[in-house]
Amino acid sequence: MTRKDLMAGNWKMNASHLEAIQMIQKLGYRLDPDDYERVDVVVCPPFTALRSVQTVIEADHLPIRLGAQNCHWEESGAFTGEISPLMLAKLAVSYVIVGHSERRMLFGEDDAVVGRKLRAVLGAGMTPILAVGETLDQREAGSTEDVIGGQLTAALTGLDATTVGGLVIAYEPVWAIGTGRTADADTAADAIGYLRSMVADGFGAEAAAGVRILYGGSVNPGNVTGLMAKRDIDGGLVGGASLDPDQFAAVVRYWV
Ligand code: PEP
Repeated sequence: MTRKDLMAGNWKMNASHLEAIQMIQKLGYRLDPDDYERVDVVVCPPFTALRSVQTVIEADHLPIRLGAQNCHWEESGAFTGEISPLMLAKLAVSYVIVGHSERRMLFGEDDAVVGRKLRAVLGAGMTPILAVGETLDQREAGSTEDVIGGQLTAALTGLDATTVGGLVIAYEPVWAIGTGRTADADTAADAIGYLRSMVADGFGAEAAAGVRILYGGSVNPGNVTGLMAKRDIDGGLVGGASLDPDQFAAVVRYWV
């Protein structure tokens, strides 16, 4: 099975809806039909910019998919300040990041919450981008596989093989996020190979061949080609570099 590459830009808490309109328009100018043939391009703006970005995507017929950075797990109710998966699906959102380390560490989201969100995203017909990753202390203690394997197992247990085969997973070592310190291609590929082997053990060879596993952590136009040369790395979850349409376009077109 050939897996199509996927590059997702996580804009985090950046860009007003007006700035977001400019960003998506610029990105649209910089990408060609050939790029979209080769790579699924996803942008994850803040909630307040989703509708504006979606309008530009639709009006300009851009084959760019919309993603959200987070959601609640309930469909509706008394959850002040939260956004439900159904609301996102109505806005033509296709992907939702769950389990990003900033949500785990700054907002106390544990594996149980991540699992609930992942199921809610699936239930609303969208694709979760499940982020897993170890801290520097955990890596130095030699527990990388235990940590990322544990996060993966907690999130996926009970899902069927077909569902798992359609997921997107992002290996994001916490020490590489926003630090400018990228995992080298071998380190990233080792962790991603391990995650894929865990999917194979738990859900079978077909699920493991289908699931797309991205690398995230200071991806930029200078390091993306080396990372993407690894057979097991199916794309990137890109933070800082995705805020500049020139840089993100260069990441998407990593082979040029
Ligand atoms: C991220 O937000 O998931 C991320 C990897 O950020 P950065 O590319 O800035 O390290």
